[in-house]
Amino acid sequence: MSNPIIGGHVSSSGGIFSSVERGENIEAEAIQIFCSAPQMWRATKHTDDAIEKYREAFKKSKLSSAWIHNIYLANLATDDKAMLGKSKNSIKNSLSIADQIGATGVVLHTGSHKGRGFDAVSSQIIDSLQEILSDTPKPPVLALENMAGQGGGIGASLSELGKLIRGVKSKRMAVCLDTCHAFAAGYDIRDTNGVDALFEEFEAEIGLDRLAVVHANDSLMDLGSNRDRHENIGQGFIGDEGFRALLTHEASAGIPFLLEVPGYPSEDGGKGEGPDIRNIRHLKSLRDG
Ligand SMILES: [Zn+2]
Ligand SMILES: [Zn+2]
Repeated sequence: MSNPIIGGHVSSSGGIFSSVERGENIEAEAIQIFCSAPQMWRATKHTDDAIEKYREAFKKSKLSSAWIHNIYLANLATDDKAMLGKSKNSIKNSLSIADQIGATGVVLHTGSHKGRGFDAVSSQIIDSLQEILSDTPKPPVLALENMAGQGGGIGASLSELGKLIRGVKSKRMAVCLDTCHAFAAGYDIRDTNGVDALFEEFEAEIGLDRLAVVHANDSLMDLGSNRDRHENIGQGFIGDEGFRALLTHEASAGIPFLLEVPGYPSEDGGKGEGPDIRNIRHLKSLRDG
């Protein structure tokens, strides 16, 4: 069995190519980046030169794969036409940049139905996803991320993600499994039994061949809280045993586990700056035994 790959989200400020060095600096084996400011609609322009520099740096690096996380503003479940158009454009932009830099795919928070219910919005989401895929180049995949279950977020259950993916009927549809979100949504992944049950449900509702990437985050909040608060690996309610069970399950073979954790404070007491060497090394130790 090939091991899971361990990496993390890194900043690409100063040029998209700078993310490669940041990934290597924290000993990541894979990276995730934003290709545009996550709280802004306006898409960041990447010059041909910046893309070329990224590709050169990536080729020379030890990184095995890269992912792009779409901006947070996008909502394919919105009832506002203009908002829906902007949302679709942001995802098309991310997928086309993924293609340019050779990233595996784009991770997407599908959106929120804001109380209208999943059934009221599912066909709009499916139509939108089909349009997005037909307007963007292969091969990058589009991975829908499971949600913590707050504010009408689409995809707190694996069955919702399965319904959308079956509806779109494309080989380019995939899933990003966020461990903190799953735990907050009520999936008890603190030990082997819970992790087995999660992957069994994943297989039944979606199919494990669609599992493309994991967001490896511990949870600051307890099981079923529906609150999305990430914690450093082993420091939250999921704990080391849960991550060991996730990393050693056969479903995780070859899958990138990307950290989106707060990180540890620096020695001079500064705030954590996101995924760091300490979290990466810790996750690797749980993988490698
Ligand atoms: Zn995530
Ligand atoms: Zn989250």
